[in-house]
Amino acid sequence: MRKAFISPSKYVQGKNEIVNLGYFIKTFGDSALLIAHKDDVTRVKEKLEHTMVQFGVTIIESGFNGECSRSEVHRLQQLAKEHACPCIIGLGGGKAIDTAKCVAEGDALIIVPTIAATDAPTSHSAVLYSQEGEFDDYAYFKQSPSVVLVDTNVIANAPTRFLVAGMGDALSTYFEARATANSYSHVNAGLPCGANGGVGQPAIGTKAALALAKLCYETLLEDGLTAKISCDSNVVTPALENIIETNILLSGLGFESGGLAAAHAIHNGLTALEGTHSYYHGEKVAFTTLVQLVLENASTDEINEVLSFCVSVGLPVCLSDIGVTNVTRLELLNVAQKACILEESIHSMPFPVSEEDVVAAIMVADLIGQEFKKKGE
Ligand SMILES: [Zn+2]
Repeated sequence: MRKAFISPSKYVQGKNEIVNLGYFIKTFGDSALLIAHKDDVTRVKEKLEHTMVQFGVTIIESGFNGECSRSEVHRLQQLAKEHACPCIIGLGGGKAIDTAKCVAEGDALIIVPTIAATDAPTSHSAVLYSQEGEFDDYAYFKQSPSVVLVDTNVIANAPTRFLVAGMGDALSTYFEARATANSYSHVNAGLPCGANGGVGQPAIGTKAALALAKLCYETLLEDGLTAKISCDSNVVTPALENIIETNILLSGLGFESGGLAAAHAIHNGLTALEGTHSYYHGEKVAFTTLVQLVLENASTDEINEVLSFCVSVGLPVCLSDIGVTNVTRLELLNVAQKACILEESIHSMPFPVSEEDVVAAIMVADLIGQEFKKKGE
């Protein structure tokens, strides 16, 4: 069987790590184009100035407009050309990172996440939006970022809600990788296949990816709560360091090389419900992880373990926790229809899943979550 595994060339995290950014720029040349929201630049301005002086490099600001759209990517690529920048830096949250990936097209790219809210920083894919902010397309590049550099002080000083959302995204990783392995389904690490017009062969995941996904889940249970408290206090502790690694590296490698399944597909379906729009990706994924566990009839012990974890760190366990109240069966069917379209990762489950199955699992997961919360009160 053909297998694939993909990862960044280097991952480094530490206190005040941004002061070492110049060292990594220097491995490509003397300058870099910085793609970042201006508020994020302000947060790390002193460290950027420090690293420029220490390593004798220039970081060129690009005035990023905030949207990962084709026109913005084109503008930034022109800017990089004009300044003859040998490398691109994506600093900030999802949009800046995705835009930097599109501008760099798989070459000479340094990613500096300023929050640990999702597992996107390490991946070789990005999501393009229209200028109006609507979904456009997925893009896959030949390589993952060259360097992922994480400054733990910056993460500790970001709002805790981001870190907790990142734990929600990381929570699904093991269960989705397990389902994908059990069904021998294909993983994103095998993409793009058929580059240069050839007919590509898709690939399944490796034992390595499944082991990382398992460690991702175990570390959440072990260090999640202490990390949350550390972040509330804006201090770096070993537990917070472990969770930053979990949210960004373990979950990132786990999802790309281990595979996605029902949890992310149902998450995508939930976008049909207006109420969910003010909740973060990882918050919704925490709930849809429970839905996947109900769908696959996981053991009560496992479901309770996940519920206890979610409640302990404040992750959603029922629909009302993600802004959905008084939902009708028809609305849930609409969610299920979106989750079950042909391209969705729900078909990586090791059994056929129908729209009715998804509706039933959402309803039951919601009730189990509500009950669990009541018991704890
Ligand atoms: Zn995710």
